[in-house]
Amino acid sequence: MKIYYDLHIHSALSPCAEGDMTPNNIVNMAILKGLDVIAITDHNSAKNIDACIKAAKDKILVIPGMEIESREEVHLLCLFEDLNSALMMEKTVDENTAYIKNREDIFGRQEILDEFDNLIGTHDKLLLKSCDLSVYEIKKETERLGGVCIPAHIDRESFSIISNLGFITEDMGFTTLEISNNTTREEFLGKNEYLKNYSFIQNSDAHALGYINERVNAIEVYDKTLKSVISALKLRQNP
Ligand SMILES: [Zn+2]
Ligand SMILES: [Zn+2]
Repeated sequence: MKIYYDLHIHSALSPCAEGDMTPNNIVNMAILKGLDVIAITDHNSAKNIDACIKAAKDKILVIPGMEIESREEVHLLCLFEDLNSALMMEKTVDENTAYIKNREDIFGRQEILDEFDNLIGTHDKLLLKSCDLSVYEIKKETERLGGVCIPAHIDRESFSIISNLGFITEDMGFTTLEISNNTTREEFLGKNEYLKNYSFIQNSDAHALGYINERVNAIEVYDKTLKSVISALKLRQNP
């Protein structure tokens, strides 16, 4: 079956996201847009995922995820089959990131919310920062926890694996790559033909409600479960 997705959405926990990116607002906007599955992918943290899953109830599928910044300042989407795996990954990333206090006046507030959108705390440690784990280490640990690791917005000029490392090679072992809404698969492959055998997903990277994707991008899955979506992303499936 085909399900419509947006697998890169930031909540108000990400300092750069709008304050109205609350669990209920995200879930309801995604439902309004006609999506079947979304992923919550805050920078280096998983603290709002539980609230988003609870707010979604069974109305839409929510994938626990994180956008992790590697030592090389490469952004990686790490998506998991269950909340616990995402929380274990968060712990590993946290242990490997130096403490710098968030400056709310400069970076914005890092809000931790409950399933009713109540503010239950703020994250004190700055999340917009690289951790001391390499791309390889993040990918390996994500996979050990049953998840899938996807280089994020690889068409962008900053914080992408291509901008920072220069290339993607087969031995890195990626199956799926993410492009931003600034391009199309065809346009991107026109300049990067060597990547034509990978699966591509296109996500919004929404930091504000209006940017969440419309019902335009679909993925072929066995059924509408977290396990099936993650399994599909671990395969190369292209038109
Ligand atoms: Zn990013
Ligand atoms: Zn992002």
